[in-house]
Amino acid sequence: MKFDLQASFTFSGDITAIKKEIERCVSTLNENVLKKDDDHKAKIERAAIEGNKLCLSIYSEGVFRPHNALLQIKNFFVKELGLKHHVGVRGVTVDHYSIVFDLEKEPLHPVSIPFAEVKTQGKQVTMSLSEVSDEFLQKNYIDRMINRLKEKVENQYYEGKAEFWKLIWESDEIKPVWSSDPTEEMVKLDWLKQGPTKGKWFYRPQAAAVLKTMEKIAIEEVLKPLGFQEVIESHIKPFDIWLKTGHMEGMPGEFYYVVEPKTRDPKDWEHFVDLTKITKEVNIAELTKNLSPPSAGICYAQCPMIYWSFKGKTIAERSLPVLVYDKTAVSCRYESGGRHGIERVDEFHRIEPVYIGTREQLLILREKLLERYKFVFNDIFELEWRMAWVTPWYMQQAGKFGESKEQDTGTIDFEAYMPYRGTRKDSEWLEFQNLSILGDKYIQAFTIKAQKSELWSGCSGIGLERWAIAFLAQKGLNPEHWPKGFRKYLDKLPEGIQFL
Ligand code: ATP
Ligand code: ZN
Ligand code: MG
Repeated sequence: MKFDLQASFTFSGDITAIKKEIERCVSTLNENVLKKDDDHKAKIERAAIEGNKLCLSIYSEGVFRPHNALLQIKNFFVKELGLKHHVGVRGVTVDHYSIVFDLEKEPLHPVSIPFAEVKTQGKQVTMSLSEVSDEFLQKNYIDRMINRLKEKVENQYYEGKAEFWKLIWESDEIKPVWSSDPTEEMVKLDWLKQGPTKGKWFYRPQAAAVLKTMEKIAIEEVLKPLGFQEVIESHIKPFDIWLKTGHMEGMPGEFYYVVEPKTRDPKDWEHFVDLTKITKEVNIAELTKNLSPPSAGICYAQCPMIYWSFKGKTIAERSLPVLVYDKTAVSCRYESGGRHGIERVDEFHRIEPVYIGTREQLLILREKLLERYKFVFNDIFELEWRMAWVTPWYMQQAGKFGESKEQDTGTIDFEAYMPYRGTRKDSEWLEFQNLSILGDKYIQAFTIKAQKSELWSGCSGIGLERWAIAFLAQKGLNPEHWPKGFRKYLDKLPEGIQFL
C-alpha cells in the first residue's frame, strides 16, 4: 500500500525566517521520529513554507500510516520551535490524501465509496480524499474504507452465484394427501383473511388454532424438555443494537422502521386533528411535521435483543449454557416481490431459542436440539423434509464459510417438500426453520463474559407460519387426515364464524 498525504500546519506567526530550523526539524523527523524500523516508517518528502503555513507531503508504504504520524509531527514542532522561536501550531489540516493499494481480483464493474474518489487500473486502486477532518482520521474511517472497497469488489464475484448448500440428512418420501396451496384453500374457507396491508394476515379461529398448536408443540416437545426458559423482549429495536449485530449494514432494505412523535402536547397536534375531523383523511405532510426521524425498527429476529440483554454481563458458570427463548416479539420484514401466501409474509410469528455456552456445551446442545426437532417433524408431523448446511449472509460476506471441514459453526436449514409447487426434484422446498452456532461473533459484539469459560452462542428460528404451511401443504386441511401424533395436540378445529 502507498499512502501520500498533503497536510498544512498553521503556525502562530510567520516562519519564513526560521526556514533552516524547519528543515533541520524535518530531517530529524525523517531519521528518528517517523522511522521506527524498516517496515514502520513514513517520510516527509516535501516541505514548503508560505508565511505562517508549512505544507508537508508525507509518504509511506508500510504499516505506519501518514495520518497517524500527524500528531507526532505536530508535537515535535511544538517542542522544538515553541521555546526557542516562540511559535506554536494553531491547526493542522489535511488537504489531500491519496492511497494506492492492490486488490486480489480485478473489479468486474466500476466501484465507488463515500468520502473518496476511486480510480482503478487492473487490480490497482487509487483512493483520493480531499479536505479530511481530524475526527475523520481518528475514527479509523480510512481502514474501513479500504476494507469496504475490497469487500465490494469481492461481492461482485459472488453476485448471481448459487448459495452454498450441502445436504446433511433427508427423510423418506412420504405421500402427500393433496397438492393444493394451503393459503388459497384457507382463504376460500374463511380461515384466513389477507391484509390489511402488504404481506400481513388475519388468522381466524381455525388458522389461529393451527399456528398456536405449532407454538405449543415447539415449546412442549423441544424447548421445555431441553430446559429453555422463556423471556419477553421488546418488539422495537434501537439502531445501536443492529449496529452491533451487523443487521444495520446487512439488511437495511428489509426493516420496518419505527418513528416516535416529536411531541404529545395536544396544542402541537391541534391542526392535524382539525384536518382529520374535517377531511376524514390522513394528511401525511401535516403528520410528518410532528414525527421524529426513525431511530429504531420493528423486530427482524429476536436474538439481537437477547444478546443486548446480556451486554457487559459476566455469566455464572452454573448458569451455563444459558438457554432462553422469546415467543412474544413479532418479526417484520419487507419481503417485497418475494411475498407468497402465509409462508413468505412481512409480519410473522417466530419462537427464537438462543443459547450461550462453551463450544462443547453448544455442540452437545445442537445434537439434542436436532434430536427433538427430528422427533417433531418425523413422529408428530410425519413430514417429508431434509436438512442442509447453508451460508448465512454474515458469513458469506466474511468469506468464512465452506472452508473448514469441521462444521462447528454455521447454519443448518430445515426444508420441507411443498407438493403444490411441483415435483420433489424440480420444485423449491421451503425453509421452515434453521439452527445456527455462530462462534463468538455476538459474544464479542456485546462483551458477554463467563467466570472462566470462553463463550460461544447460537440461535434457532422457529417460524410458526412456516411450520404450519409445511405441515398443511403435505397433510391437507382436514384433521381426519392428520397424523395421530399431531391430533393429540389438535384433534378438532374450532367452529369459526359463518359468513353469509
Ligand atoms: P428465507 O431465506 O426464506 O428468506 P431467511 O434466511 O431470511 O429465510 P432467517 O432470517 O434465517 O430466514 O429466519 C429464520 C426463520 O424465520 C426461517 O427459517 C423462517 O421460519 C422464518 N422466516 C423468515 N422470513 C420469513 C417470512 N418472510 N415469512 C415467514 N417466516 C419467515
Ligand atoms: Zn437469531
Ligand atoms: Mg429472508
